[in-house]
Amino acid sequence: MKRVSLLGATGSIGESAVDLIGRGGFQAVALTGGRNVARLAEQAVELGAELAVTCFPECYEELRQRLEGTGVDVAAGADAVAQAAAQPADLVLNGIVGAAGLQPSLAAVRAGATLALANKESLVCAGPLLMATAREAGAQVLPVDSEHSAVFQALVGEEMSAVERVVITASGGAFREWPLEKLARATPEQAATHPNWDMGQRITIDSASMFNKALEVIEAHEFFAIPPERIEVLIHPQSTVHALVGFCDGAMMAHLGAPDMRHAIGYALHWPERAELPVARLDLAALGRLDFAAPDPARYPALLLAQEVMAAGGLMGAVFNAAKEAALDGFIARSIGFTDMARIVEAVMGRMASQTGLNNDMMTLDNVLQADQMARELAREAMQKTSEATG
Ligand code: NAD
Ligand code: MG
Repeated sequence: MKRVSLLGATGSIGESAVDLIGRGGFQAVALTGGRNVARLAEQAVELGAELAVTCFPECYEELRQRLEGTGVDVAAGADAVAQAAAQPADLVLNGIVGAAGLQPSLAAVRAGATLALANKESLVCAGPLLMATAREAGAQVLPVDSEHSAVFQALVGEEMSAVERVVITASGGAFREWPLEKLARATPEQAATHPNWDMGQRITIDSASMFNKALEVIEAHEFFAIPPERIEVLIHPQSTVHALVGFCDGAMMAHLGAPDMRHAIGYALHWPERAELPVARLDLAALGRLDFAAPDPARYPALLLAQEVMAAGGLMGAVFNAAKEAALDGFIARSIGFTDMARIVEAVMGRMASQTGLNNDMMTLDNVLQADQMARELAREAMQKTSEATG
């Protein structure tokens, strides 16, 4: 039986993973979550986990009470989440949202576990550090983002030297058809509606702005070590083709599947084998057509920012992600508008590029965390100014 830990078990990715693990063949080691301790406790009992951890110390007591007498150990706090990731396990699935997932990712690979990575922020903030740590520990990293899982699957048996380009698809999000001038007034509720995928609130809004795709381009660059100019984004409203790989002989291998994250999660959980999964089978005749279009940079400025991040390298990924997280908080709190998010991130990147205190030569965890903190502060300052200016 594979011993598996789930980080972010109570989230959208986490619940899909709990569903798959609950079908058998796995021993649950540690489960982590946030404020929804009622659900976390339920999952821990359901899966017979050894340990349940909430990242919030103030939630410890409630979690302890709910699990009293069940034999499940309980802990709380960010360090406890990282320790949970380091518990002896064959596979650790990281479904935490945001940069908070980085330290648990590092802890998991350091402990030698296979890391099934949904937390793309780990690679965006510290790709070189994470991949080097995994290499040193002899740990495998598996992508769980659907596009990256698709690329990973298309590459089975292939030489990287034969890869000419990687194409990842994007639905275009909630505002694909909206007139550009309306975007500035879009609300968080409107942005949090996805045409095809059912996901957490933050990634759904990031899909509308394409910050999610921007993160994914950087994620692909870091994970597959592909140069930026060989990574393309295509708008594909049906979300059926998840990615394509183009080879030096002109052939393209596409990965198709229903928009259900249990596919990519299940692939990683069972890797290197394929197992039967409870996902809908495609009916291409019923679907009838698959459409593709190039993304409009005026609608999706985040994609251009991703190019700047990759050109700069070093800590700019951490800066980009932290500024994006802060701007997204501001948008959700209605302090700034939808189109302000990209402006704020761009401004923060500009100011951080000229920061002399930023050690861009060596990527250590401390440097990454420092860049993250500085970028969040600058983003909050910039948002303050924006909301003052617009009253
Ligand atoms: P979510 O908001 O639904 O769930 C996030 C989980 O992380 C919850 O269990 C929450 O309690 C936990 N969490 C939140 N803040 C935390 C912190 N500071 N420390 C520790 N744990 C914390 O998010 P999601 O949509 O499941 O996304 C999770 C990750 O997977 C993100 O990186 C996202 O980009 C990626 N992803 C998600 C999907 C999807 O379908 N939802 C698809 C591809 C990739
Ligand atoms: Mg994705």
